[in-house]
Amino acid sequence: MNKYQLFIDGQWVDSESGKTFTTPNPATGQPLAEVAEADKADVDKAVAAARRAYEGKWSKMSARDRGRLLYKLSQLIEQNASQLAEIETADNGKPIKESLYVDLPQVVENFEYFAGWSTKIEGETIPVPGRMFNYTLREPIGVCGQIIPWNFPLLMAAWKLAPALAAGNTIVLKPAEQTPVGAMELAKLIQEAGFPEGVVNIVPGYGETAGAALAAHPGIDKIAFTGSTEVGKLIAKTAANNLTKVSLELGGKAPNIVFADSDLDQAVAGAMMGIFYNQGQVCCAGSRLFVEESVKDQFLGQLSERAGRIAVGDPMNKATQMGPQVSAEQLDRIKGYVDIAREEGATVVAGGATPHLDGPFEKGYFFTPTIFADVKNDMRVAQEEIFGPVVSVITFKDEDDLLRQANDTIYGLSAGIWTRDITRAHRFAKEIKAGVVWINTFNVFNAASPFGGYKQSGYGREMGRHALELYTQVKSVWVDLSGRPIGWFGK
Ligand code: NAP
Ligand code: MG
Repeated sequence: MNKYQLFIDGQWVDSESGKTFTTPNPATGQPLAEVAEADKADVDKAVAAARRAYEGKWSKMSARDRGRLLYKLSQLIEQNASQLAEIETADNGKPIKESLYVDLPQVVENFEYFAGWSTKIEGETIPVPGRMFNYTLREPIGVCGQIIPWNFPLLMAAWKLAPALAAGNTIVLKPAEQTPVGAMELAKLIQEAGFPEGVVNIVPGYGETAGAALAAHPGIDKIAFTGSTEVGKLIAKTAANNLTKVSLELGGKAPNIVFADSDLDQAVAGAMMGIFYNQGQVCCAGSRLFVEESVKDQFLGQLSERAGRIAVGDPMNKATQMGPQVSAEQLDRIKGYVDIAREEGATVVAGGATPHLDGPFEKGYFFTPTIFADVKNDMRVAQEEIFGPVVSVITFKDEDDLLRQANDTIYGLSAGIWTRDITRAHRFAKEIKAGVVWINTFNVFNAASPFGGYKQSGYGREMGRHALELYTQVKSVWVDLSGRPIGWFGK
C-alpha cells in the first residue's frame, strides 16, 4: 500500500497531529493508500508557505517563466499519463478507457492552454478626458484556497491550478477525501517541473476539518470550490466573514431533451453519454431526460435495451464501460433514491440493483445503469442531484410545456437538446437557464471554452479566458500629465 505525506512548502511532511486516513479502491473495497490527514494546523502552515512564495520568488518571476513551468508540467503529465490514468482508476473507480483517453488528455490540455495565457494577461489604457492618463493593471489575487471533489480528481485539480498559476497566484489545494492519490502524484511532478517551493501546497484531509479551515482562513484571498450545492453554500457563508472572494461550481439536474424530429439513434446514444458516463457522477449529467410524448415508447425501448448491455465491472479492463461508484456512501445514497422513485410512483424500467460480480469485485461499490420512467418533474428524483447512473424520464407535449418544466429546477449548469430543427435548437439555447448548452451532442469540453452555472449551480466560469477573471483583479492607475496643481480649491 502506498503512503503519502502532505505537500507543504515544497516538502513532504507528516500532519501535525500525526493522523492518517486510508482511501479504498472502490472496485474491491480494499485499502489502496494511506494518506496523511491535514487539519487546521497543517492548513495554517500551508497558507503561510503560500503567502511567503507569493510575496517572494513567485511574484518576481517573469510571466514567460511561469508559462514555461506550466508547459513543462503539462509535458511531464503527458509522459506519465498511462501511470496516472491507472492511479486515477484505482482511486476513483472510473473505467481505464475514460482515465486514459479523456481525463488525462484533458488535464494535459488545460495546463498547456493556460501556460500560453501567462504572457497574455494584459491591462488596458482608457481614453479618459483631459490631460490625464489612465491605465489598468491586471494582477493576481494572491493566495488561493481550492477545494475539489472526487468525480474527476486530476481534471478538477487541473481546472483549478492551471489558470490560478498562469495568473501568478499561489495555492493551497484540498483534494476530496475519497480520491486524494492523483493530486499527491501530481505534486511529485510539480516538484520535478521546478515550481518554487510554496507555490502549490496540497493538503489532503476531510471537508469538515481541513476544508472548513481553508475556507475560514483569513490569510486566504480567494476560495474556489467544486462540489455539492449544500457545501457550496457553507463555503460562501464562511468566506463572507473575511469577504474572501469566492467562485463556486456546484451541482446540476440538467434537462436532456429529445424531440420527435431528432435522429433517435443519435439521441439514444446522447442520452446514454449524458447519464452513464463516469458512472453518472458528473455535475452536468443529463439526469432529467425529457422525451416528446409521441416517441416515448420507441425511445425508452431502445434506451433500456442498450443500457442493459453496458459492461459493468473491473474498471482496469479496457472493455469495461462502467466501474463502481466512488464510495459505499454514494452507493447507499443511490439505492435510497431507487426506493424514493418507487414510493413516488415512478417505474424502474432498467437496472436499479447491484450487479452480481465475482472474485475481488464482490465487495466493490457497483450499481447497474438505471432508468426511471413515468417521472413527473416535481418528484424528488427529478429535483435532487442523485449523482449516479440513474436517469429520470419525463415526457412533454410541446415546446412551451417543455421549457416550463426544463427551467423548473434550482440548478442551471447544463442542458442538451436533440432535434433536426435548427431554429428550435437555437431558440431553446437562448431560453434555457443554464451555463452550457449542447445541441445534438453532450459532455463536450475544451480548455478554451467556459464552463459554469446559472442559478444554484454556482458562480464564475472555469476554463477559457473567463477563468482568468476568477484569478485576477484589476487596478486602475491615474497619472496627471498637465504638470499643474489641482485647481479645485484655488490658491
Ligand atoms: P462535497 O461534500 O460537496 O465534497 C466536495 C469537496 O468539499 C470535498 O473536497 C469535501 O471534502 C469538501 N468539503 C465537504 N464539506 C466541507 C466543508 N464544510 N467545508 C469545506 N469543504 C468541505 O460532496 P460529497 O459529500 O463528496 O458528495 C455529496 C454530493 O455532492 C454528491 O452526491 C453529489 O450530489 C454532489 N457532488 C457534486 C459534485 C460536482 O461536481 N458538482 C462533485 C461531487 C459531489 P470531503 O471529501 O472530506 O467530503
Ligand atoms: Mg463529503
